[in-house]
Amino acid sequence: MTLLESLNQTTKYLKDHQIESPRLNAELLLAHSLNLGREEFYTHLHDPLKEREEETLEKMIRRRISGEPLQYILEHQEFWSIDFKVDSRVLIPRPETELLVEQSLLILRQYQTPPVKAGSIAPLSINSEQTPACKAATAEELILSGNSLGGIPSVLEIGTGSGAIAIALAKEVKNIFLVATDISRDALVLAKENAEAAGVQHQIKFVNGDLFDPLCPSKERKPFDLILSNPPYIVRPEIGSLAKEVRDYEPTIALDGGEDGLEFYRRIITGAPFYLREGGWLLLEIGQGESEKVAEQIESSGAFLKPQILPDLSGIERVVKAQRIPPSPPLSKGGKGGFSGAKNG
Ligand code: SAM
Ligand code: GLN
Repeated sequence: MTLLESLNQTTKYLKDHQIESPRLNAELLLAHSLNLGREEFYTHLHDPLKEREEETLEKMIRRRISGEPLQYILEHQEFWSIDFKVDSRVLIPRPETELLVEQSLLILRQYQTPPVKAGSIAPLSINSEQTPACKAATAEELILSGNSLGGIPSVLEIGTGSGAIAIALAKEVKNIFLVATDISRDALVLAKENAEAAGVQHQIKFVNGDLFDPLCPSKERKPFDLILSNPPYIVRPEIGSLAKEVRDYEPTIALDGGEDGLEFYRRIITGAPFYLREGGWLLLEIGQGESEKVAEQIESSGAFLKPQILPDLSGIERVVKAQRIPPSPPLSKGGKGGFSGAKNG
């Protein structure tokens, strides 16, 4: 059988099994089983398919028709034009999450500090022990131990998964340093691989633990200029009705947002002011229909200015962006503004 014949046969088979975009799936699976790029594949259409290649293809087809996402079978997904390795350890990065990257860049590009150089931070380490709350370094120590430059813009990503967001930011902005956390140690192993493949490992420290637990609040200084997260936000009772590809194959820990889907927002919004400098930014991806409730939580915390809600390319409200109340201007003696001039209310 030639590649072309196999392509046609596979397409029909996938179609008969209700796989969406059967031709594209067939093409990608076939090219993958032959270790060929898509373009290269098209120059070999009339070559015969070897028995071993046919067997590999068959195995992959079986996985696909059982509902496994194509990205897990091919072990990669593009995000922000970067190729990421993905497998069942991590959520497959979604195109709509690029909005979180876009919005972060608007903030981070304003800093004019020099680039973070390779070798200027400690090598990436993944805690081998689960870090008990505040037993690790303080967030500040993490950053200071991480670089010798001092004063560089710093970002905290909570729930980094494949590392897609943190890595995209590090590639785009060379003068930032990121701490990327995840409760899943398996996810962090993969995220670290992805950071190395993208050549940005010197800009990111990966830490394992529950939300802010691997960090410690510091009374003196709030180390982060930006905190961002695409947390699990699916309403727990609705997980069962998600597409099979998501429900049965992506990690539940990456999806489950608690009974009302908002569990992580409550915890992140409460915790963030302990780690975010005054005037720093909080950016959160949100699920459909969650924007107002999340914005309300931010407003009622009293720590932020009025949040903005931003739609993705499909017009769905996807990101909530809030600035921590900036420091008040210094008091001027006897001046009108500030405390001394406010005697009469
Ligand atoms: N940032 C990636 C992205 O946007 O593609 C992954 C986002 S996924 C929706 C949420 C991530 O949060 C998962 O990697 C999951 O392991 C992690 N996570 C879940 N609960 C957590 C917790 N309590 N503390 C830290 N990370 C958590
Ligand atoms: N965007 C994912 C989905 O709808 C959910 C990811 C998340 O919970 N943050 O399948």
